[in-house]
Amino acid sequence: MILKTRQVGDPVLRMQAAPVSIERLQSKETQALIDSMIETLRDHPGVGLAAPQVGESLQIIVVEDLAKYHKKIPKKVLDEQERGQVKLEVIINPKLETLSKSTHSYFEGCLSVSGYRAIVTRADKVKVTGLDRKGRPFSITATGWHARILQHEIEHMQGKLYVDCMNTRSFISEKSYVNEWADKLATDLETFTSKLVGS
Ligand code: ZN
Repeated sequence: MILKTRQVGDPVLRMQAAPVSIERLQSKETQALIDSMIETLRDHPGVGLAAPQVGESLQIIVVEDLAKYHKKIPKKVLDEQERGQVKLEVIINPKLETLSKSTHSYFEGCLSVSGYRAIVTRADKVKVTGLDRKGRPFSITATGWHARILQHEIEHMQGKLYVDCMNTRSFISEKSYVNEWADKLATDLETFTSKLVGS
């Protein structure tokens, strides 16, 4: 079932999400929620969705970045962002560890802040541990865009949105992003942000 995506201003997006017990994870309701989250993510489409974004204050995220989403992005941008295909990941009770001091700054958006983008600085490499949808522990080491998606989604678990850590003066409409910024490299973005008075 495709679920309604909650928009910024909805209190559920600002709550600390609750960990999911094995019993609750294995329940029909939670398994159905996970299926619906995957369906909702693919419907938009987006590359990540956290349970609070569909109104459930639970520590569940789904991530998927398919090659078909990259078709309109220049290869030089994909290469620089280290953005490649990420197969579906369902992560319960995710814990994030930052593995690199190096960072990159790019525009990102959120399905709960519909219609806007802003530049956010993220670590280049992270490790995430958690449970899969059957309750089995696993871990993922991710770099580049995959690492960015994971950092963004895991912040939703703490009631955080990218607007809390964005370069505030880089906040732009989706239309402006598509028309002017979608094909820009990090160096272009640095030039842009260096001109932003007060940033
Ligand atoms: Zn988001």
